[in-house]
Amino acid sequence: MPPREQDRHTIHSGAPHPSPPPSTTFQSIDPSTALPLCTIHTSPQSSILAAIASAKSALSAWSLTPPSARARILRRAATLLRARNAALARIETLDTGRPFSETSTVDILSGADVLEYYAGLIASGGLDGENIPLRPGSAAVHTSKHPLGVCAAIGAWNYPIQIALWKSAPCLAAGNTLVYKPSEFTPLHAEYLADIYAEAGLPAGVLNVVYGGGAVGAALVAHRDVAKVSFTGQISTGRTVAGAASGALKSVTMELGGKSALIVLPDADVAQAVDGAMMANFYSSGQVCTNGTRVFVPAAIKAEFEACLVERMRFIRPGDLFAPETNYGPVSSKTHYDKVVGYIRWGVERDKARVLCGGLGRLEGVPLALRDGYWVRPTVFTDCRDEMRIVREEIFGPVMTILSYETVEEAVSRANDTETGLAAGVFGRDLNECQRIVGLLEAGITWINTWGESPAEMAVGGWKQSGLGVENGRKGLEAWTRNKSTLVEMGGTVPTVFAKL
Ligand code: NDP
Repeated sequence: MPPREQDRHTIHSGAPHPSPPPSTTFQSIDPSTALPLCTIHTSPQSSILAAIASAKSALSAWSLTPPSARARILRRAATLLRARNAALARIETLDTGRPFSETSTVDILSGADVLEYYAGLIASGGLDGENIPLRPGSAAVHTSKHPLGVCAAIGAWNYPIQIALWKSAPCLAAGNTLVYKPSEFTPLHAEYLADIYAEAGLPAGVLNVVYGGGAVGAALVAHRDVAKVSFTGQISTGRTVAGAASGALKSVTMELGGKSALIVLPDADVAQAVDGAMMANFYSSGQVCTNGTRVFVPAAIKAEFEACLVERMRFIRPGDLFAPETNYGPVSSKTHYDKVVGYIRWGVERDKARVLCGGLGRLEGVPLALRDGYWVRPTVFTDCRDEMRIVREEIFGPVMTILSYETVEEAVSRANDTETGLAAGVFGRDLNECQRIVGLLEAGITWINTWGESPAEMAVGGWKQSGLGVENGRKGLEAWTRNKSTLVEMGGTVPTVFAKL
């Protein structure tokens, strides 16, 4: 059993602050064993107000710190993250249940990439404005970029430290201060991250952390001193949060869920398409927002695709989460386990889809010591129809649905027939045709002959109900700034209609 982590308290003014009694607490649970890891003290209203006040008092000095100096701090934080990758990845594995083979190669490192990217961007003019010679020699327009102020970031539970870094890096780079609420299911990373930022030289109060569930998030969103809300989570919660924030005319970025389509084109290399579909459904036990859970396969090659897929399913390896060969973990919580298994049951009993692999029942290969964890059998339903619930709703677990099609136009139209538009992708040998199809797909993140890679340079965000705005890339920095335009008249006379006749 791993040693228990020390209790977590609201972080503001540069340090953790125990809540005044009576404080309420909750536990963070290790999903591989169902054992508690840590006691978290819910931030009461007084602590939420203290965190916002702390961010507000740090704002002026931080926003006036030259971008090159801010960049140095972010770079130092990235260096510390890389140096502590193994220790931080261990925490993320304990908290999320995702194997160490994933957390040690993706979560912290991709977060550090984003810090370095924005440090580089702001140190090299990424926050510069424009100079527009309106009437050359006599009038010009200057634009300048300014921080928004105190911002709130609210995270989901699947990639906790990565989400925290993808939000905090551009937020702080742009000169804002932040109050961050991690998901109550996976909050452990937040204190480690706050310590790293502090060690890198981030002044006290620039990053603050509050703990708790939806009520704590809602209190942040409602506060009049919060200028922007960056949210990652479900569409339904996103609607509530965006409604509350935009009702008060706050900026919002919404990174929400999806039900993305992966289209295998008739000329695709079937083995490669299967590899892509496996990554798009079973990586992180299917708990990735951009999962390609609706897999469209030409009827003519469906049998070949399925045979290859069944072969590859044997390479899913549950096990000790710290063993290097383990590539599959439990889902993140009991609540989520019940939801995912409920969908599998619905698929079998109500949608009556054909189970190609997995289904209900106990997953084989789980070590005895981890039997109480939230393990779900990786499941493939085939011969699915568009109207099935398992095809229409986001499951956010290891459940693939295969749908066959006759013409590519039909596949595109069916792929777009959803209220979500987070991601989409195609597999095919003819790159021109792949580009043509991607051009027709209604999604903000698209891939050709690969799935899931999301580098710092690539702006990502959903279309339709899957989100508002983007994270990462140059556009991701814009989302944390506001514009000022100044017209300068240099002609020596003020244009007026009120001159003497
Ligand atoms: P939820 O929407 O349940 O929760 C997200 C966050 O919002 C949590 O911190 C939650 O608190 C908080 N919250 C809940 N209610 C409110 C409220 N009224 N006001 C403010 N905050 C609130 O999402 P999950 O955590 O279940 O995350 C899974 C979802 O996230 C999936 O749909 C997935 O697709 C999506 N996602 C999207 C990504 C993207 O980039 N597009 C990336 C990763 C995930 P609490 O601590 O109680 O949960």
